[in-house]
Amino acid sequence: MSSVVETRKATSKVDPVTAMKGSVKEEVPADLNIPDNYVTWTLKNQKPLPPITLENVLQNIQWLTFAILTITPSIAIWGLFNVKLRWETALWSVIYYFITGLGITAGYHRLWAHRSYNASKPLQYILAAAGTGAVEGSIKWWCRGHRAHHRYTDTDLDPYNAHKGFFFSHIGWMLFKPRYKPGVADVSDLSKSEVVRWQHRWYVWLILGFGFVVPTIVAGLWGDIKGGFFYAGAARLCFVHHSTFCVNSLAHWLGEAPFDDKHTPRDHFVTALVTVGEGYHNFHHQFPMDYRNAIRWYQYDPTKWFIWVCSKFGLASHLKIFPENEVKKGQLTMQLKKLREKQDVITWAPNVDDLPIISWESFQEQSAKRPLIVIAGFIHDVASFADEHPGGRHLITKNIGRDATTAFFGGVYDHSNAAHNLLSMYRVGVLHGGIQHGLQDKLIPPAQRLRIARYNEMGGYSSTALSDAAVSDGEGMLG
Ligand SMILES: [Zn+2]
Ligand SMILES: [Zn+2]
Repeated sequence: MSSVVETRKATSKVDPVTAMKGSVKEEVPADLNIPDNYVTWTLKNQKPLPPITLENVLQNIQWLTFAILTITPSIAIWGLFNVKLRWETALWSVIYYFITGLGITAGYHRLWAHRSYNASKPLQYILAAAGTGAVEGSIKWWCRGHRAHHRYTDTDLDPYNAHKGFFFSHIGWMLFKPRYKPGVADVSDLSKSEVVRWQHRWYVWLILGFGFVVPTIVAGLWGDIKGGFFYAGAARLCFVHHSTFCVNSLAHWLGEAPFDDKHTPRDHFVTALVTVGEGYHNFHHQFPMDYRNAIRWYQYDPTKWFIWVCSKFGLASHLKIFPENEVKKGQLTMQLKKLREKQDVITWAPNVDDLPIISWESFQEQSAKRPLIVIAGFIHDVASFADEHPGGRHLITKNIGRDATTAFFGGVYDHSNAAHNLLSMYRVGVLHGGIQHGLQDKLIPPAQRLRIARYNEMGGYSSTALSDAAVSDGEGMLG
């Protein structure tokens, strides 16, 4: 045994390219030598299989998975009508559902596919056995597909591409031969694991054992072999299957995208409920190495709780958590995006750059024809508002042709933010040389002092041109 270990250590030092040439039998990462434009190139050049039609459907069925996914529910339904369900067996079925479900979520998914924590050998064997009871393929096969799903999300290289519809991402991708080959994903790290190799070698026997024999025998303890087989075996397996499948379908369809909406993954409590906690999928695709799916204590993530408890018993360690600061960045980005959408449907005051610059003489002249008032350097036409003025029309008329800045900002009445915002809508010009020093904070209507600007709108963003002073004063822009 020790010599094997030593050989491994020695080979790991070998340059991967040398290893490729066959001088050493170390498994080379599958994605080591792919071109830099692999995704674009493959998507452009890979010829998909012809679409599935009624004529070719039979040749395109993957019979083994098709059989497993149709016979299991058939057995369960037969049992439902012919075998009496005892409460002990019902309880055991639920427990075994969680055991095998956790084998997938805590084992296959978070431990092996994402390496989000380290598990001790005993825990690895337990998770491998439990995961086998979920009958979803070997760890190596499952993780290869899942890593491709994360790397090529929503493209044709993603084996469960959610853009192909709910049915396809849920189960269709297993029932029928894929039109595209899944994109390359490396699992050479898993080939080194003795537990993964053990499971791969004995896979068929382990399926029979943990998929059916164990649930049946345990129910035999209270004399319900038949119920054990039909309920804790077949029916429970159906639930575990569709529970996991929901991570590829429901979790890419239902809910919110609080961290990033570039791709389809979504967060939803219902998805979490049916997938043993894998429902915070938007978070998961952003931070796949995090051992958690749910980051708040009140969110439902029993897989996280299980891993955490294991760590308290010394069975798991190195639980990975993404820095909270980076998580917050994602959340803020999405919140700003939503706010920006709200900001964009609001009509704002005319742009300073779009307003004519008017001399004091011209202002005087025009005031004789229409009700113009200067406030904070802007000329406002208040014709449509004079009668609505809560303080009365006379206070407006009195100030026509005058600078009412002092009166507006507290001299007569310290107007509300709403009043200032509304006033800005009546701007028709900028008074030449009319901005008094010390009035910077009065230039920008309150609703526009803090705005969301995209990076390429900074600086040239005209309605903020006047706000430069405010920005340097610490009244920031967001972007
Ligand atoms: Zn996903
Ligand atoms: Zn994942």
